[in-house]
Amino acid sequence: MVIVGGGLAGALAALCLARRHPDLPLLLIEAGPGFGGNHTWSFFDSDVPNAARNLVAALEPVRWPRHRVHFSGREREFAVAYNSVGAEALDALVRARLRPDQYRLNASASHIGPTEVTLTGGETIRARAVIDARGPDGPMPGLELGWQKFVGIEFAATAPEPDCATVMDARLPQLDGYRFVYVLPMSAQRVLVEDTYYSNGPDLDIALVAGRVRDLAAARGLAGRELRQEHGVLPILIGGDPDRFWPSDDPLPRLGLKGGFFHATTGYSFGLALQLAEELSGLPGPFDAAMLAGWSRARFRRHWRETRFFRLLNRMLFHAAAPDRRDRIFSHFYRLPPDRIARFYAGKPSYTDMARILSGKPPVPVGAAIRALVRR
Ligand SMILES: Cc1cc2nc3c(=O)[nH]c(=O)nc-3n(C[C@H](O)[C@H](O)[C@H](O)COP(=O)(O)OP(=O)(O)OC[C@H]3O[C@@H](n4cnc5c(N)ncnc54)[C@H](O)[C@@H]3O)c2cc1C
Repeated sequence: MVIVGGGLAGALAALCLARRHPDLPLLLIEAGPGFGGNHTWSFFDSDVPNAARNLVAALEPVRWPRHRVHFSGREREFAVAYNSVGAEALDALVRARLRPDQYRLNASASHIGPTEVTLTGGETIRARAVIDARGPDGPMPGLELGWQKFVGIEFAATAPEPDCATVMDARLPQLDGYRFVYVLPMSAQRVLVEDTYYSNGPDLDIALVAGRVRDLAAARGLAGRELRQEHGVLPILIGGDPDRFWPSDDPLPRLGLKGGFFHATTGYSFGLALQLAEELSGLPGPFDAAMLAGWSRARFRRHWRETRFFRLLNRMLFHAAAPDRRDRIFSHFYRLPPDRIARFYAGKPSYTDMARILSGKPPVPVGAAIRALVRR
């Protein structure tokens, strides 16, 4: 089996396959010099499937026993743990657990078929199955998307509260949609500050937003030496045609963002990537391209059905709320008890959770909400 793309989804899948099928001829192909790129992946404990707990522990996440949100008129702190894993940890684990003949770095695929991969140098690798885990590469055909985009800078600075992550602080001018700052004390002396926007368009002026991050850090007394910078433009799923995104006759199995496996409202995918890696490695063999294409597309269709409620909320967020009023939707959401919030982020709200999320005084105009709800 060949997995093309050693980012989050491809690397986790390779780790699970290598553990459960030590005799499977496996090759993980990554274009970059290391696995995982330049990311910090954050997640709640409740996002991690039980079967993947050992794998996550091996990634040695930074862990905060509590986290906090701030909106004007609402501040809440939750005794619910939040965690972060850096790409270096994923890179180190892949190198430790895969044999050197099971991966190739600095190897870019120029062509991918269900049973063969051609590398840019012209080499062709044949396999019983090739999985496409090449991650996001621009617009996703057939899908109506909003965007969560951000720039983050890690500063050498003393964290005022090293045991608490601020996952949303929206007490800021609301520019380019819903805007908030995210503050993660990665250690007592290192703090990640991110300026984030839920916007209609994917354009991100990295230099401009990096300047705002520096201002936000300075205002909080955190603007020390800059250690690293990251940015992201993540898709938020509003609607669309799943069959256009992933036609039924597509013979290529997919994982990760390539397969639409992301949380529809946050664009995050750490929990889903773990879930899919565990499910894939638990499939009865032998693996071949047709079986994996069928499995992965069916899994995407299930994910599409399970995200119906999230698409509805996203329509409220992007179609019913004025961009500079979107913060009200999040503030309203954060009135809920912690267990309901946790199930929402884990992508598993109960019917009662859904009813509670939609109840109460609507944070958007009623007419606009109804128009957003009846759109598909
Ligand atoms: C900066 C940033 C921070 C994020 N933070 C979080 C977070 O906190 N929590 C969370 O859950 N999600 C987060 N996300 C969202 C999401 O989890 C990530 O985007 C995630 O990495 C997506 O996983 P993936 O495997 O689909 O794609 P990627 O991780 O991007 O992996 C794709 C890989 O394929 C490789 N590749 C591409 N083309 C080729 C080719 N032709 N040949 C060989 N290799 C190829 C790339 O080099 C890359 O390594 C973040 C995203 C970004 C960009």
